Amino acid sequence: MAEKRNALVTGGSRGIGKAIVEELLSEGCNVWYLSRSEGEAASLKEKAASLGNTLTWVACDMADRSSVQEAVERVIQEAKSLDILVNNAGITRDGLIMRMKDEAWDEVLAVNLTGAFLTSRRIARLMAGQRRGSIINISSVVGIMGNGGQSNYAASKAGLIGFSKSLARELSSRNVRVNVVAPGFIQTAMTDVLPEALKESLNTQIPLSRIGEAQEVAHAVAFLASEKASYITGQVLAVDGGMAM
Ligand code: NDP
Repeated sequence: MAEKRNALVTGGSRGIGKAIVEELLSEGCNVWYLSRSEGEAASLKEKAASLGNTLTWVACDMADRSSVQEAVERVIQEAKSLDILVNNAGITRDGLIMRMKDEAWDEVLAVNLTGAFLTSRRIARLMAGQRRGSIINISSVVGIMGNGGQSNYAASKAGLIGFSKSLARELSSRNVRVNVVAPGFIQTAMTDVLPEALKESLNTQIPLSRIGEAQEVAHAVAFLASEKASYITGQVLAVDGGMAM
């Protein structure tokens, strides 16, 4: 039997993060996830136990540096080694640039970009020492294409792409791979709030003519995290029904 891998997922409580947690459990990983609430992913504990894996929630506010640092140290202490880091926690605070408040800019950059920097800085050290690891950062088509009313979000998501390519170059000699998954419109709490008319119009911009499922993103993450992707680093994999091509 393949050796168990240890994975850390930020923002694992619901939506895409929860689907990633579930997929990694199915792939034989022990999973730790960071979020402010334990959330819907708590329901995966039984599945984890039936697979012989552990699932552990660590309370963490990604917008608070000391909270992230403490949470990551706790995970490292418990897990001892980490094979997979998925930086998935993300928020939107939409608004047109001329009306955008400082707080909307700062919060989005803090959670989406600085949060990923903080986890990656510590875990890169661990993975470099292990001479193995896979880091996957969840960006967005908006980080590639831009989107009116989302300059803060687009900046954070485009920032994650440059960040990931730089890490991929820095860590390649230590056998640590770093890749990006850029989802399009995926059915979660984040997109539930969009008006129906907007969702309808979005469908016309998506070659596959539908909104995606969280599990479809999770499959791409699990692939990049696996040995099947052993020669892939520094890449951006869009899971978007063809939207950003
Ligand atoms: P959800 O809003 O459904 O889930 C967001 C997750 O992030 C939750 O687990 C939430 O947990 C966590 N989170 C939010 N703020 C914080 C915080 N301050 N500290 C810790 N955890 C936090 O979003 P999605 O599942 O839709 O999105 C997941 C990722 O995918 C995000 O990075 C998003 O930008 C990206 N994405 C989503 C798309 C979509 O269409 N849905 C499209 C493209 C990218 P809690 O509230 O418990 O803290």
